[in-house]
Amino acid sequence: MSNSGSDGKPVVRASRFPLPLGKVGGANASVGGGVAREVLMPQRHLREAALDAARQLAPSGLGLDSAKVRQRMVLRLRRDGLHDERVLEALSRVPRHEFVDSALAIQAYEDTSLPIGHEQTISKPSVVGRMIAMLFGGQSASQRGHLGRTLEIGTGCGYQAAVLALLSQSLVSIERLKPLHDKARSNLAPLHLPQVRLIYGDGRLGAPGAAPFDSIVAAAGGDDIPGAWLEQLAPGGRLIAPMAAPGGRGQVLVRVDHLLENGRSRFVRTEHEAVLFVPLKSGVM
Ligand code: SAH
Repeated sequence: MSNSGSDGKPVVRASRFPLPLGKVGGANASVGGGVAREVLMPQRHLREAALDAARQLAPSGLGLDSAKVRQRMVLRLRRDGLHDERVLEALSRVPRHEFVDSALAIQAYEDTSLPIGHEQTISKPSVVGRMIAMLFGGQSASQRGHLGRTLEIGTGCGYQAAVLALLSQSLVSIERLKPLHDKARSNLAPLHLPQVRLIYGDGRLGAPGAAPFDSIVAAAGGDDIPGAWLEQLAPGGRLIAPMAAPGGRGQVLVRVDHLLENGRSRFVRTEHEAVLFVPLKSGVM
């Protein structure tokens, strides 16, 4: 099966599950530590420029202090209209460069989607932020100040799962491609997020054993919202997913709220901005 490599997306609460920030950065390395002593150094500035470049391409791809680079990304996202501080804080804490190939790490804090292999992409930080911020507007999330029990469809490399985990009581994330499921597992392991459960399976079926969910977010878009997701959305819960726009006009973000009014359930669906996510496929590979 082939996917048409496009993009994926998501969104938000913080401080209960602090990430071990000690593992961030790391690549400061001893670049330059062993520079030979020379009397004549006409090319010294060139050498320093080369060392600078090497530092930026060092093991993790980020010789700079990655927390600072991330902070700059967050400032840009805020400037560009993402105002939910919980989401911004979570984005500032997850080392995105650790989730992509080391050759791409230098681009990890640009607002761009990046390939993660198997014709899939890690979503742009602004899209991840936007979707999580939308989840926070759900009835129960806005009352509680966190996302509650969260379901993610499309684990990919696990980046958005890490951001969601910081903002949720628990997170179940499903991926249909085994190599990506495995990759996400190893990417997430060093972050020690015990509230995360990764499932290898077809996310269109949701995770009935772990339902209901207060927040559901999909990083891949189909022709419609699978019925299982609505069945597994708790009263007061909110679902955000990309979906084919009517008339074959690309994809839009769809929001579904499960409202409870006078003891009666009601699903309210609204359509939002155009997006571009990889296709939601059935079965596993
Ligand atoms: N949130 C991810 C982005 C992943 S891209 C990240 O942060 O990296 C979307 C992912 O959805 C892809 O990995 C794709 O394999 C997966 N996907 C597509 N259809 C799916 C399905 N039915 N069930 C589970 N995952 C699916």
